[in-house]
Amino acid sequence: MKVIVLGAGIIGVSTAYFLARAGHRVTVIDRQPAPALETSFANGGQISASHAEPWSNPATPWKLLSWLGRKDAPLWFRLHWDPEMWGFFFRFLAACRGSTSRANAEKALRLALHSRSVLASVRQATGIAFDAEDRGILHVYRSQRALDRAAMIAERFHAFGLETEALNADACVGIEPALGASRDTLAGGIYSPADLSGDAHVFTQALAVKAAEAGAEFRLDTKILGLAHMGDRVTGVMTHRGMVTADRYVCALGSHSAPLLAAIGIKIPVYPAKGYSATVPLAAPDRAPVVSITDDDAKIVVSRLGDRLRIAGTAEFNGYDETINETRARAVLTAGERLFPGCMDGASAEFWAGLRPLTPDGVPVIGPTRLRNLILNTGHGTLGWTMGVGSGQVVADLIDGRKPEVDLAGFGADRF
Ligand SMILES: Cc1cc2nc3c(=O)[nH]c(=O)nc-3n(C[C@H](O)[C@H](O)[C@H](O)COP(=O)(O)OP(=O)(O)OC[C@H]3O[C@@H](n4cnc5c(N)ncnc54)[C@H](O)[C@@H]3O)c2cc1C
Repeated sequence: MKVIVLGAGIIGVSTAYFLARAGHRVTVIDRQPAPALETSFANGGQISASHAEPWSNPATPWKLLSWLGRKDAPLWFRLHWDPEMWGFFFRFLAACRGSTSRANAEKALRLALHSRSVLASVRQATGIAFDAEDRGILHVYRSQRALDRAAMIAERFHAFGLETEALNADACVGIEPALGASRDTLAGGIYSPADLSGDAHVFTQALAVKAAEAGAEFRLDTKILGLAHMGDRVTGVMTHRGMVTADRYVCALGSHSAPLLAAIGIKIPVYPAKGYSATVPLAAPDRAPVVSITDDDAKIVVSRLGDRLRIAGTAEFNGYDETINETRARAVLTAGERLFPGCMDGASAEFWAGLRPLTPDGVPVIGPTRLRNLILNTGHGTLGWTMGVGSGQVVADLIDGRKPEVDLAGFGADRF
């Protein structure tokens, strides 16, 4: 079968890899000169099934109130008239209800755990190296209240196969000695030993090479202008280089999926949540962490990528604007330096901003649409690296007519 994959981020490339290996004729279209140059470029690096709890959870509305007006707050939005943004927020608040949020967390966890094991098989099959650290993820908390809440969620996740350990502050330092400098500020942490970290950009580019070796064609530097359709089928992809056609089409355009789909009457509430990262060379590697850390209070993640540290965080709701706000980008770096003082060369930090394709409920949008040959693989929000490889595999299964290993009930666009 001839399949066109729209988008060469981690999601599109993973989809193309599995489809090409299954013998399909695959064409991947992307506007960038190489794969993974947009949101999959410099993210936090965490493969974190342990972070499956969506941002829309019962604790979030209270946190939002406490952050209002703070320029360096972990979450910021520009008050302006944007029907998509306000529609997103109303759905987001509705999804913060305890029972709804719990159900969504379980769905996200299912896919994240599956993806983690698919990634392990892909690594074994391909030998791709991506500065991976297979040392788990440690989520640290500064207040006993936040730690108790996290322990309760971790307990619930055990039932779905996620192993975690609740640790006091000393045990956190035992897992990651570089936390010693911040020991007195910590209440404790939740450690997920089977989670890992690594460079999504390096991995995606290497996987694209493997997909190409399996026969996938990459049409890069090609801007997608829209989808042509007739009746209940997509008939082609309009690009600035002309029309391209196939039997099946997979939309994996990250944050840019929503406007493209809206133009053909398919509405999905995927909204861009801009985040920042700082990639910093190490000045004192011995004092830098190797275990990937999430600092719950500062809302940052820190991952070791070889001789660099990647610090990432914040969420800004301001449409598709990708400019870097200096104050907010520096706040991410400063939070990292506060947690791990003296180990990095902050003056040489490289700042980056990317748009997380966020859904209000924290569950990606995977599955068919009313156009019978169009499948969605988008809306992976805060966990696209975590869920990427598994999402590619399940979509390839759907196209092949195989039952995916993950139950995809509740992942479709029809839930909105
Ligand atoms: C600061 C930050 C930190 C993060 N940290 C983590 C983390 O630690 N762990 C984790 O799991 N996830 C993390 N994420 C989320 C993760 O990076 C994303 O979910 C993931 O990269 C989304 O991948 P994607 O393939 O859907 O989108 P993208 O990587 O954006 O790919 C979409 C592709 O579509 C192409 N495209 C778009 N429009 C067009 C068009 N009109 N024509 C042609 N091509 C087009 C783009 O060029 C792009 O290559 C983070 C995100 C951010 C911003």
